[in-house]
Amino acid sequence: MKEQVYIVEDEPDIAELIQLHLEKSGYKTRHFISGARFFEEIKKSHPNAVILDLMLEDMDGLEICKRIRSDPKNNDMAVIILTARAEEIDKIVGLELGADDYMTKPFSPKELVARVKAVLRRSLKTPETTHGIMHFANILTLDKGKFQVLVHGKPVEVTTTEFKILEILISHPGWVFSREKILDYIWGYEKAVIDRTIDVHIRHLREKLGDAGAFIKNIRGIGYKMEE
Ligand code: CA
Repeated sequence: MKEQVYIVEDEPDIAELIQLHLEKSGYKTRHFISGARFFEEIKKSHPNAVILDLMLEDMDGLEICKRIRSDPKNNDMAVIILTARAEEIDKIVGLELGADDYMTKPFSPKELVARVKAVLRRSLKTPETTHGIMHFANILTLDKGKFQVLVHGKPVEVTTTEFKILEILISHPGWVFSREKILDYIWGYEKAVIDRTIDVHIRHLREKLGDAGAFIKNIRGIGYKMEE
């Protein structure tokens, strides 16, 4: 599944330029002319990242950023602010309000794409859960505090790597994670590990999880996801 980037921008030419470059790099994009339309849409859908213009007709981009961050549901939504206002103060305020990155106009579309890529890698962080316990399908439980996996309430022995793979998959049920993303999450992307090592870990995990192992689905040519 392609990663989705929403663009909130009141200048159609700029939005079109950004969309063109992002789509060329394999992202799905949608453009919103106003903050109101964007918020209307995210009630129904959930982009991976948002590129946010600060000077819009209906809302201040910083307000939009604040509103995005005030809802924990959007924790995994990366925000990149794009604006003609180059003052340092905006930059600081933007980052304090929870923006992941900041670019000033005029901008290089290529650099913008590179930044989108970078924030999407970074936004893939450990999910916050109550008491560090995650459940899946009433069968599978992950206890981060105890570093324990339970299937039907019974502990299952897994390795650190297997635990982390399971953790990332359960954190976003239904999301497809590429092997590269899983590797990034486990080892950090400076470490070069062959893609196929993930398949071996997944195979072991499935065996150990018994009937819960079937929830880990392989998406041909892309990666893995957790689904009932
Ligand atoms: Ca504008």
